[in-house]
Amino acid sequence: MRFLFLCLVGIQFSHVQAMTFTEQQKWSYANIYADALIEEFDKQLDQKVALQDTGGMLYEEVYSRLLSARYYIDKVLGHRGGNGKNNPNILMVTDTGLYQKVVKAINKEAIKIHKKRNELKETTTTPVIYPSATRAGNITGNSFPSQVWTLTFDDGPRNGRTQTVVDNLYNRNMRATFFMPTRQALRFESVANYVKNADMEIAHHSYTHPNLTKLNAAELEYEVTTAKKDLEELLNVELKLMRLPYGAGLRNSKVRKKIATNNMVHVFWNVDTLDWKDKNPSSIKARTLKQMQLSPKDSGIILFHDIHAQTVIASEMVMDHLQDNNYTVCTVQQVVDFKNGLEQDCL
Ligand SMILES: [Zn+2]
Repeated sequence: MRFLFLCLVGIQFSHVQAMTFTEQQKWSYANIYADALIEEFDKQLDQKVALQDTGGMLYEEVYSRLLSARYYIDKVLGHRGGNGKNNPNILMVTDTGLYQKVVKAINKEAIKIHKKRNELKETTTTPVIYPSATRAGNITGNSFPSQVWTLTFDDGPRNGRTQTVVDNLYNRNMRATFFMPTRQALRFESVANYVKNADMEIAHHSYTHPNLTKLNAAELEYEVTTAKKDLEELLNVELKLMRLPYGAGLRNSKVRKKIATNNMVHVFWNVDTLDWKDKNPSSIKARTLKQMQLSPKDSGIILFHDIHAQTVIASEMVMDHLQDNNYTVCTVQQVVDFKNGLEQDCL
């Protein structure tokens, strides 16, 4: 773009000198010239003649250069002329070969940037969030887009409770993510299938819900790898997300590596309902809303446990709150896909 700027100013000079105008006229026309360039560029962008699918960034970049040129003429050369819109002399400028040359230079430069940007896009297709023991392998809710919430339910399914939670979601056209210990899904297989068949998202939550940081290699293999394989086979799903029992092991490299090598992203939360602590749905709801308000972008991941009776009621209250206040409710995977620039139907 430096080239464009120099070229633009350079041509201004040679052009006005060739016309042999008075000083006042020179800068008046130079001003008009810059205006005309901007106008022409705008027109071309509108019609997408020179640039196809350029995107907002490119436009801003080139446009700002044009404005710099205009500023230079105005400020440095001290001219504050009128708008020149009705000045017939503008034709003397726009009809010249020099004008065409400058427009061509702008287009050439713009296309060059466009191509470069496309190449960049192709070489930087690495997703933002992917299975990894580093930060990239982690989603916590803190980085969610504004006013987007995810409801997550851990430790189920549990007969008689999970179905109601699922019905409540389904009736509100909401989807949620259910982190199931494999042992629990085996115990309540039909309930687990009920969750899946209601188009809810199924995720990994170990086999037997131990603290993974306290296990030896063979035990860890069973709780992560075997648990994944067995739950995938049981429900005929692909598990891409895992939540640690008790959230333990977030910074334990052995545990985090195990999750990553099993091709899963680790999911944390930023709103903990503490729905196991008391049996009062209203106080659970109040606590949840208070934490939601504290989140910087009014967004994130809410942690519930669908094994408790009070959670069935409290989570329905929170669903109503989300619906009444027009929040967007997505599953964890939908937000991961969104952040990775992939197609999804929530955001
Ligand atoms: Zn749990």
